[in-house]
Amino acid sequence: AKDAGRNRYSRYTPALQEAALLRLRLANDLRGALANGQLHVLYQPIVHLATGQVRKAEALLRWTHPARGNVSPATFIPIAESTGQIGEIGEWVFLQAVEQVRRWREQLHPDFQISVNKSPVQFREAGHDRTAWHDRMKALGLPGDCIAVEITEGLLLDAGHGVAGQLDALRRAGVAISLDDFGIGYSSLSYLQKFDIDVLKIDQSFVRGLSATSKDMALCKAIIAMAHALGMKVVAEGVETEAQRQLLTAAGCDYGQGYLFARPMPAEAFETWRLNAAG
Ligand code: C2E
Ligand code: CA
Ligand code: CA
Ligand code: CA
Repeated sequence: AKDAGRNRYSRYTPALQEAALLRLRLANDLRGALANGQLHVLYQPIVHLATGQVRKAEALLRWTHPARGNVSPATFIPIAESTGQIGEIGEWVFLQAVEQVRRWREQLHPDFQISVNKSPVQFREAGHDRTAWHDRMKALGLPGDCIAVEITEGLLLDAGHGVAGQLDALRRAGVAISLDDFGIGYSSLSYLQKFDIDVLKIDQSFVRGLSATSKDMALCKAIIAMAHALGMKVVAEGVETEAQRQLLTAAGCDYGQGYLFARPMPAEAFETWRLNAAG
């Protein structure tokens, strides 16, 4: 009778139940992922549009699941956020980035900088605040600006939880602050000033629709002008075509990131790519 009940339930909500089950399984598997070496960090170049120089990269996390293959961070980051694993995982990404930027400052360029995404949940969970990556950075004698922290607009809106203080501490250490996915959230412009943001990353949804006459073009131009007036640099995300690159460059956008230049790559592939592609 118990089995019949279960089957009846699954017949009525199979998709929902399966999604919930998958989440549970992934949450469980994610627990061992770090220790089992299933997580790794890829790097995507951030290209200076006017010169083509590459002195920045974004660290992007990947999970190679033993049975399911590559699981997207869009799937597993929210799971890690809800299970509390994001603290440990996020900290590990920062440590990887610090070790990598140390090598690239020696090998590639003395001003090389790596951006790392930081979830709002990481800011809210006290205890992950005093960070090992920051100590490691200082121990290696690296200046704060070798790392940029990418945050999203939601964090600035919900600025309880000591968020302002944490951002301040990062800034005092010289770490750069980038505002990710700019334009799709709810941030009022006053936040940009209040939190002293260094870089705006224009969300890819605006870049996708770029043409000389499009409304997205007008929006990008307005964002670029505003950012520059406030002393911020601008990165356009999701640059996929030569036309987009040209329009953004003409509009005075500082940096571009996207498949036109390169996909996120392992560190070694990044080095080879940079050797062939850029100065
Ligand atoms: P994001 O921070 O907005 O990262 C940009 C995403 O756009 C990346 O997806 C990147 O691979 C993708 N992308 C880059 N260029 C192009 C392009 O030209 N076209 C298109 N269509 N996409 C492009 P990815 O690597 O799958 O990461 C997805 C999201 O997962 C990230 O969005 C970020 O929010 C999150 N994430 C990734 N790594 C980390 C991490 O270490 N910590 C945290 N907290 N979140 C992470
Ligand atoms: Ca990002
Ligand atoms: Ca983004
Ligand atoms: Ca500033």
